[in-house]
Order: sequence, then structure tokens, then C-alpha cells
Amino acid sequence: MSNPILVIAEVRGGKLRQVSLEALQAARIAAGENAEISSVIIGSGITALAGELAGYTGGKVYAVDHPDLASYNAPAYLQAVKGIVLELQPNRVFLGHTAEGRDLAPQIAALIGAGQISDVIAIEPGEQYKRPIYAGKAFEEKRFLSSSGVVTVRPNNIPPASAADSPGEVVDREYAPPGDLRSIVRDVVRKAGGKVDLAEAKIVISGGRGVKSADGFRPLEELADVLGAAVGASRGACDAGYCDYALQIGQTGKVVTPEVYIACGISGAIQHLAGMSQSRVIIAVNKDPEAPIFKVADYGIVGDLFEVVPLLTAEFRKVLA
Ligand SMILES: Cc1cc2nc3c(=O)[nH]c(=O)nc-3n(C[C@H](O)[C@H](O)[C@H](O)COP(=O)(O)OP(=O)(O)OC[C@H]3O[C@@H](n4cnc5c(N)ncnc54)[C@H](O)[C@@H]3O)c2cc1C
Repeated sequence: MSNPILVIAEVRGGKLRQVSLEALQAARIAAGENAEISSVIIGSGITALAGELAGYTGGKVYAVDHPDLASYNAPAYLQAVKGIVLELQPNRVFLGHTAEGRDLAPQIAALIGAGQISDVIAIEPGEQYKRPIYAGKAFEEKRFLSSSGVVTVRPNNIPPASAADSPGEVVDREYAPPGDLRSIVRDVVRKAGGKVDLAEAKIVISGGRGVKSADGFRPLEELADVLGAAVGASRGACDAGYCDYALQIGQTGKVVTPEVYIACGISGAIQHLAGMSQSRVIIAVNKDPEAPIFKVADYGIVGDLFEVVPLLTAEFRKVLA
């Protein structure tokens, strides 16, 4: 790859997102440890974050810092990266497979006439990109035929990049809002303000219709507090009004790949499995021993979640104390 490799980093809640370091590691795997990797960081008041990112990339970090870029806005963010992408003509562009990355990636691909491979979970020798298909029931390996390609990386699958031997240089870039900008995002109010980001959580505890009410999520939240986990849900629980749709995991919800996924009162419909079946260890708590979730679970507990979950919480509290 003669042209540079570009990583588009993401900022959330004033922090560099973990998936951006995973995208950087993907770039290193694809292009080789010694490849020149540049990156872009976009936001408002991001000087310190740009410096932090430079500590990982070792290459140039283009920082586009403007109050209008405090929250993701498609045309504004495209405008922010456009000049850099056209100037560098990168062979590869890596982003997180997040709401932001999924939106921005095809726009960048169109800009430079690149191919795109999305939702990558591993990079095999020969720059073969592995990704799940058919709701996680099978995998495919793809490679680029075009000279340039855009890749989005699923959170929690590729280990995050470690610090570079020597930090890179931060290059500030001006931002001029596009003339046809129709809206500016002033603020993002998150409805389900979980303490841990669901997409990047190492442990996820999910509740299904079996929790029976909004209050039924309490035991799950207590366990999540003890384990530093995020709380998720099935669509059944969301549809029943027990929790916000922001927690929904599955085909039409979020896709998560934590180290541990604990499904409580979830039957294990194929649409739910599409969002969690790649989790490293799956633990299911269900009172029905025939529930399909047990087919994908590494550990299964047949029992009433209102008895089992508080016991788990008490045990983990003891062990972790
Ligand atoms: C196009 C489409 C897209 C969809 N997208 C999604 C999606 O993204 N995510 C998703 O989750 N679903 C999705 N669904 C819905 C999916 O098909 C299922 O209906 C849904 O996942 C069921 O949710 P559930 O497992 O919570 O509920 P149920 O299937 O009703 O299961 C509840 C489970 O709780 C157990 N239980 C009850 N009480 C207790 C107790 N006290 N202790 C322990 N266990 C108990 C029961 O044995 C049962 O297994 C989609 C469906 C369609 C058609």
C-alpha cells in the first residue's frame, strides 16, 4: 500500500472511543506494523484528545476542532474530513462500526471511489476481512479489488492498539461549514443513560420479557453495578414498555460482542441472537429448560431470574470485594 492509511477516530462524552483504537489496530494488521498511519479526529475542544490519539498512532493526527462539530452531523463531519481525504487519497480508511462510522464510511468511499467492507471482526492473512453474515450464522471473508477501500470494525473484536514507540504530530485543520448545511446539532440528549456504553461494554446483562415489568430490571441493574456491566434488553422487553429501545439488542437493535453476555428471561429468538451470538461467553438464565437461548449458551441456569440474579449479585459482590 503506497498511499497512507487513514483512521477516523470517534469522540464520545469527551473521551476517545475504544473502538477507534481497535480500528487503529485493524489498520496496523492490514497494512503492517511499519506502515504510516494517519488519523483524523473531529469535535469541539479536542486538543488533548488529539494529543492522546497521536500517542497511539505515531503518525499525523489531523484535528478538526470547531464548536459546530461537538456532535455528529453527517454533512458537517463529511465536510470536516473531505479536504484531508482528497489530499491524502488513502489506500485504506478505517472507522468503528458504530452509528457514526456506519454513516460516514460510505460517504468517504463515494468521495474517493473506494470499495467498502463493513462490520469486520478479524483480518486474516492476505488482507482478507472476516465478517458475520445471515445474522451471525455464517462468516464470509472479503478482500478489496479496488486500490482503495473503506473498512468499518465491529467494536470489541480486534484488540485495541497499544501506544506507539514515539508520538505522532498533531496537525490542526480549519473547518468551514458547507454552504448548504441545513442543520446544526446543538446537543444530544441520551434517553437511556446507562453508566457503561452498551456497544463497547466487556460485560452485558440483558433482560427479556421474563423480567415482567420496568421494576423487573432492578436486579439486573444491581448485578451490572457490581460487575461494571452495561444493561441491554430484548425487543420483547422494549415492546412491552419495560425499558427504552436504546437498550435493544438484536437484528433491529444494537450488535454487541462483549466478553460475557448474561441473558435473563430471554427466549433466544433468531433476531435477538443476531445481536449477541458473537459474545465470547454466553450465560443464560431462563426458567424454561427448552428455551432456545440454551442452544447458544456456554453456561445455562434453569431457574427463576428473580431468585438466580440476586444470588449471582451477592456471590460476585463477595468474590470481588
Ligand atoms: C423483523 C423482526 C426484527 C426483530 N428484531 C429483534 C431484535 O433486534 N431484538 C430482539 O430481541 N428481538 C427482535 N425481534 C423479536 C423476536 O422475534 C422475539 O419476539 C423477541 O426477541 C422475544 O423477546 P423475549 O425473548 O424477551 O421474549 P419471549 O420470547 O416472550 O421470552 C421470554 C422468556 O423469558 C422466560 N421467563 C419468563 N419468566 C421468567 C423468569 N421469572 N425467570 C427466568 N425466565 C423467565 C420464558 O421462559 C421465555 O423464554 C424481531 C422480530 C422481527 C419479526
